Amino acid sequence: MRSLGARVLGLLLGSSACGAHEIEPTRDAEPAVVAKQDPAIAEVRALLAGERRELLGDPGAAEQEILALGEPEVSDDLLLSLPGSHGRSVGANGERLAIPDGGRSIGVPEGGVLEGGIQLPFDPAAYTRRDATRSYATTQTLRTIQGAFAVLREERGVQAEVVIGDISLPRGGSFPPHVSHTSGRDIDVRLILAPGLDRTTLPASAELVDWDATWSLVHSFLETGHVTYVFLDFERQAHLRDAAARAGVHARVLDRWFQFPYATNVEAIVRHEPGHRAHLHIRLSCDGQGPRCQGA
Ligand SMILES: [Zn+2]
Repeated sequence: MRSLGARVLGLLLGSSACGAHEIEPTRDAEPAVVAKQDPAIAEVRALLAGERRELLGDPGAAEQEILALGEPEVSDDLLLSLPGSHGRSVGANGERLAIPDGGRSIGVPEGGVLEGGIQLPFDPAAYTRRDATRSYATTQTLRTIQGAFAVLREERGVQAEVVIGDISLPRGGSFPPHVSHTSGRDIDVRLILAPGLDRTTLPASAELVDWDATWSLVHSFLETGHVTYVFLDFERQAHLRDAAARAGVHARVLDRWFQFPYATNVEAIVRHEPGHRAHLHIRLSCDGQGPRCQGA
């Protein structure tokens, strides 16, 4: 017999056995009203509110591990001297390193490898590599990252530091504590910290996050057209969705992009996975990743 946590996880993630039934969003309905109408969602909400540990295990430990900033790659003085620290758009006059061809994704994200892996370039004006030895990816993934960050910095004007966590090892393959990240198209990104916090802070609670900046980041990735999933805790999605609404994204678009507030919206790009409370996990599609790339 499946535990309550397993059943709820099934609800959250969608199970083909159950069949994904679509909930037609009611235009003016508040999320709480929708929840009352669906006992399954009410059950999910109750669990999220009261029995988080059963549902999510102990994600804090894993997130601490994959997000902890060790020795910074650059000094604070250098960081402060960068254009992004002074309100000017980053990269407007500069050139970014061209990503070479040849990096390809082989197999599925949970059991693949990386062929011709390329290291994410050192580019502190755009992002911080948490661990450069775990920042290898395909050509397509790195070009997508560069494109998204160019939009984030130059068009959207977000100045805050963005920490990129694990992508893949130089040749791919599995490494703890990840289930995927084997084939160069999974990218962990720490949620952008609220202003004024120490840069090593783990954004373990919602008030530590700059949700508007984080939405700008997610939006910049979504607009590349190469994102299959963005994994983020269900509760956290509420904050990100609010930020997206503030940015002017239409509610019907939000319903297609976000699982929240409909737990059964298994078609959404931004969807729940346990252990994603302080970071986003961005999965890119197989488009442009080479002919042997497999899986969603
Ligand atoms: Zn991840």
